[in-house]
Amino acid sequence: MDEELTAAGYRRYSGDKIDVYFNSALCRHSANCVRGNAAIFTLNRRPWIMPDNAEPAEVKRVIDTCPSGALKYREK
Ligand code: SF4
Repeated sequence: MDEELTAAGYRRYSGDKIDVYFNSALCRHSANCVRGNAAIFTLNRRPWIMPDNAEPAEVKRVIDTCPSGALKYREK
């Protein structure tokens, strides 16, 4: 599954308990992610996605608000 996402253009942002995948080509810039939790998603930071900055349930909650499918997660 990870390979499928990578092949589809997603980049992985690894966390201890959950990995986040982002595909910039699909992003619609609705900013639901950064508004949803700026500790996890902050645009002017590298890496801009830090999955360990919140509990996995919160990571999933925010990603479920992404309207484009640009964000995905895989629990470990
Ligand atoms: S919520 Fe999804 S579509 Fe909106 S800015 Fe974030 S990644 Fe892009």
